[in-house]
Amino acid sequence: MPEAGVASTSRGLGRAVIFLGPPGAGKGTQTRKIAESYNVPHLSTGDMFREHVGRGTPLGQRAKPIMERGELVPDDLVLSMVEDRISRPDCGDGFILDGFPRTLPQAEKLDEILRRRFKSEPLVVHFVVDPNQLMRRLTGRRTCAIGGEIYNVYDHPPKVPGRCDRDGGELVQRPDDREEVIAERLAAYERQTRPLVDYYRGRGVLKDVDGMDAPAAVTKNVLELLAQK
Ligand code: AMP
Repeated sequence: MPEAGVASTSRGLGRAVIFLGPPGAGKGTQTRKIAESYNVPHLSTGDMFREHVGRGTPLGQRAKPIMERGELVPDDLVLSMVEDRISRPDCGDGFILDGFPRTLPQAEKLDEILRRRFKSEPLVVHFVVDPNQLMRRLTGRRTCAIGGEIYNVYDHPPKVPGRCDRDGGELVQRPDDREEVIAERLAAYERQTRPLVDYYRGRGVLKDVDGMDAPAAVTKNVLELLAQK
């Protein structure tokens, strides 16, 4: 029997797609939309860690102070969590990674997993944004406590302040979306994650998307990229 995996499927996304870009680039908003449209899992390592923190698991207890400082969680902790998640059957038809990989060792390990399990290269969508806009986007971000829908008090406010348009859930601010933590998160991106742009571009698997467009236009552009062979 052929190995079940991304390369062997004939419908759906059919591969691993990585959304790469700094915090506040719109990856989370776009991942939710695109994953919904392709009906594939949306794997956000930040969401996974927040869930562990919320449940108070041993992993959550280790990750919490690191996340509160805006630094990256050590690679070994991230990698075992991701490897476990993408081995599940629902990832066999493709999946979208949001916030992973974030370091070169993470990217190399992901390559190894994708080659072994799925026999395919990932497609990397790189969100290009004006760094001056990121602080405003991040300080204005609010997330629905029920469904995770993302708003921005400046650019994409809810109809009723503090409440999600979809399900009425409370809109909350992430603890790491405070100015002093944001500065460290952006620095961590420049230091540890930006080198991945060259890593993937050099292999011809990276496509740039203008992340400064309106969210609906970005979604349309990403869908067009994904439809290309
Ligand atoms: P995010 O929701 O993607 O902004 O992630 C929130 C925080 O979770 C980050 O600032 C890191 O502390 C941690 N985190 C998420 N993904 C990773 C990753 N791939 N590698 C290391 N730390 C991560």
